[in-house]
Amino acid sequence: MARKQFCPRNHDTFVTGRDDNNYCLECKYLHSREFHAKHRDEEIRKSAEWRKEHKEEVIENNRVYHLEHQDELNAKAREYARDHQEERKEYMVGYRIENSDAIKEQHEKYLEEHEEEIQKWYDEHRDKINAKQREKNSTPEGKAKKRLYYLANKEEIEAYKKQWAKDHPESTKISSLKAKTNRGLRVVPWGRDGLKEFYLNMPDYMSEDHIIPLCGDEVSGLHVRWNLQYLPLIDNIKKGNKCTPEEATKHYERILIEAGLK
Ligand SMILES: [Zn+2]
Repeated sequence: MARKQFCPRNHDTFVTGRDDNNYCLECKYLHSREFHAKHRDEEIRKSAEWRKEHKEEVIENNRVYHLEHQDELNAKAREYARDHQEERKEYMVGYRIENSDAIKEQHEKYLEEHEEEIQKWYDEHRDKINAKQREKNSTPEGKAKKRLYYLANKEEIEAYKKQWAKDHPESTKISSLKAKTNRGLRVVPWGRDGLKEFYLNMPDYMSEDHIIPLCGDEVSGLHVRWNLQYLPLIDNIKKGNKCTPEEATKHYERILIEAGLK
């Protein structure tokens, strides 16, 4: 039996085709669309209900789907982010303002839970991070930003600094001395060995003494381990900044002999 070319809706079924039941495929497609359009609200409601009842299944399905389509999804997300950069920025700013408390809380919780990992990562990347931050801070905008931040958080920052100094007496001693002596360029990069140990092992009743004073009237010594000795504070005060070239020569001679160079 020859097939009829046109369906009751006058579609050319030689072009659209028919299904196994001889039903026009174009009509079938239209019918399905009409049906869904008519029952749209009901279908959405039903689907939402189903998802609610099968929450875990939905989550699992999503997880599997994302795993299977990872690359594709990531590429799509990147593309979308690139095309909507400005919008996204604006949205994020608004979001952050509206949810600042929740974000802060979440952030703190995360830091607490990952303290060790974060510390480890930071230790490994410290030099890079510090260099980057220094570079940032050295620009005019960076300086202004830093200043504003300081003014806004002055009390907290000062309290933190004080506590840190208390917790790290040896570092504090070194850095305050460094600050003082750096001005006279008496700290040299090749002479830092043993400085920390010197301060760590200093007896309570002693003070550090630069054998050749850093800012002597006639000669100036360096802030290096071989120019440091423990001296009772009172003797240190008596000694002052006096050191003659002869005394300096003697001291360096002693060091050379000790080092087996003379
Ligand atoms: Zn048809």
